[in-house]
Amino acid sequence: MTAIEERIGALERGTVAIIGIPLDENSTFLKGAAQGPKAIREALNSGSSNMSTELGIDLGSEKGWTDLGDMSLASGADALSQIEQTVARLLATGVHVLTLGGDHSITYPILRAYSKAYPGMTVLQLDAHPDTYDEFGGSRHSHASPFARTMEECPGMALVQAGIRTLTPHLREQAQRFGITALEMRDWSPDKMPRLEGPLYLSLDLDVLDPAYAPGVSHHEPGGMSARDVLRVIHGLPSTLVGADVVELNPSRDPVGVTSMLAAKLCKELVGRMLC
Ligand code: MN
Ligand code: MN
Repeated sequence: MTAIEERIGALERGTVAIIGIPLDENSTFLKGAAQGPKAIREALNSGSSNMSTELGIDLGSEKGWTDLGDMSLASGADALSQIEQTVARLLATGVHVLTLGGDHSITYPILRAYSKAYPGMTVLQLDAHPDTYDEFGGSRHSHASPFARTMEECPGMALVQAGIRTLTPHLREQAQRFGITALEMRDWSPDKMPRLEGPLYLSLDLDVLDPAYAPGVSHHEPGGMSARDVLRVIHGLPSTLVGADVVELNPSRDPVGVTSMLAAKLCKELVGRMLC
């Protein structure tokens, strides 16, 4: 049994559990996202900021959350099924999971587990990219395809995307084919978010942010959200947020650590929202 599995049995229902998934082998352009969980934890524990959320929850004294550490992973398809099994076990004990990536390929096995535990759930994906390529570079499981696989294999799940600014003709077809609501960044503002019904899962690819706010990602896509835009979205979510991931932090592109610090703050706000 791994360290995470040993602790699952002792968790109370309703606990928010953080797990790290240090996997970047499905990144198509640059490696480095495997170092994401470590960098987020270092920023969170650096003492540079306190542990209170903007909405007034002090995670320093709040006992409803815990960090289970990083998964130790095999590679290839085995890694993806390990992720699905671990998340499924956490959900079976009534735990809500916040996952630190890792590249975005990890969200597909996470959502396979979530869709079984929460039929009819809604997923909000904040991302510069739709990640719905049927295949990319010869792979159907790279970080460019997780939401194609999810929509194929998780019937009943609704997907809303915001921040999108990289649509190709193929990706527009995929959005139609899967019935995805894609809010393109060119005409998006925080007050244009649709009303999202729970249970709700948030998948936060840090490249949804403008590279001015978040340079520490593998794919710099100008014209994105501000840090405050993303915070407004998180604060405006319904209270039925049952899970989230924060993915694509690439510390090798983040020389002064601003993206890690932002990722840590977003994680803090997400834990706060998952607790209330
Ligand atoms: Mn993505
Ligand atoms: Mn992206």
